[in-house]
Amino acid sequence: MQLRVPGPTPCPEEVLNAMTRQMVNHRGKEFGELLERATEQLKRVFQTKNDMLILTGSGTGGLEAAVVNTLSPGDRVLAVSIGAFGDRFGDIAAAFGAQVTRLGFEWGTAADPEALRRALKADPSISAVLVTHNETSTGVTNDLASIAAVVRESGPLLLVDGVSSVGSINLPVDEWGCDVVATGSQKGWMAPPGLAMVSVSQKAWAAFDKAKMPRFYWDFGKARRFLNEKKQNPWTPAVSVLYGLAVGLDMMEKETLQGVFARHAGVSQVARDGVKSLGLSLFADEAHASNTVTAVKIPEGVNGKKLLQVLREEHGVVLAGGQQKLDGKIFRIGHLGWVEEEDMREVLRALEAALPRARG
Ligand code: PLP
Repeated sequence: MQLRVPGPTPCPEEVLNAMTRQMVNHRGKEFGELLERATEQLKRVFQTKNDMLILTGSGTGGLEAAVVNTLSPGDRVLAVSIGAFGDRFGDIAAAFGAQVTRLGFEWGTAADPEALRRALKADPSISAVLVTHNETSTGVTNDLASIAAVVRESGPLLLVDGVSSVGSINLPVDEWGCDVVATGSQKGWMAPPGLAMVSVSQKAWAAFDKAKMPRFYWDFGKARRFLNEKKQNPWTPAVSVLYGLAVGLDMMEKETLQGVFARHAGVSQVARDGVKSLGLSLFADEAHASNTVTAVKIPEGVNGKKLLQVLREEHGVVLAGGQQKLDGKIFRIGHLGWVEEEDMREVLRALEAALPRARG
């Protein structure tokens, strides 16, 4: 089976085996060592000296945590959105009482840093900018380096959805000055769903001291205290997922970060070239096409649902459809985590065979 949705991704045998291990006491020494080691390894992948918190929850939990730990109801927030996940980030802030201004861009394109500069100039009271690094719903990677530079000019917090980018696409957190960056274990990390990993800068901690949004489970302060004082999580963590994540992190270190990024770049190139050679069109502006997910337009005369069904049932290839307004208009190939170029070639061969069966 080729599970090629943009998360959850397949897990290597070593990761699966690690997760069959017996439970340990999550308040004991063994767990403490595991947590400490994974935390340090994650900092290297995030390329940060900031605090790193491993929370039990999915990526959305990490995004909610980013919001509620740094903001207060009534704070003015600029939510940059190029797709469904950018919209969701803004929705989270609105749900907790932030005054959200939306800076939306056409789906399939990247955010324009100049438009962001204008928006920040127009409202100097903005206290945080929310942005998605890699928009999984459209297959577009934002130019986060330029976006971060613009945000730094005027000083609000920069909260980043790195759910489908960190660990697959370069995101040097400290170099770019990102205050909170969240990801999820089921994306580029070769592990199952269940953990959100979040980096928190000094500036974010200063905001935390004043932030008044309601929070309990996601409290960064408690997470940091338990980590630093006891090498524990405040609440019972997803122990087995951490077993798996630890092995995934070892594999990534062995491959080297540059090697991991280069592999994702190579695999995504195979995906894009292959899709085009089948006469299909990419949905994303190719200058900003993602290295973790490729969105493909469903051509006239092809039934998208049938296509995914034939791929799944006759070829064992599982791809994702479009979300929200892109339902029925695109399909998406995930290529993050445990993936090689040959996997993509297999997907493309299946696609070539399935396409005629989904016409009419
Ligand atoms: N943000 C992005 C960019 C994502 O790709 C996803 C998951 O697909 C999420 C947020 C939400 O993560 P989760 O489904 O783990 O809550």
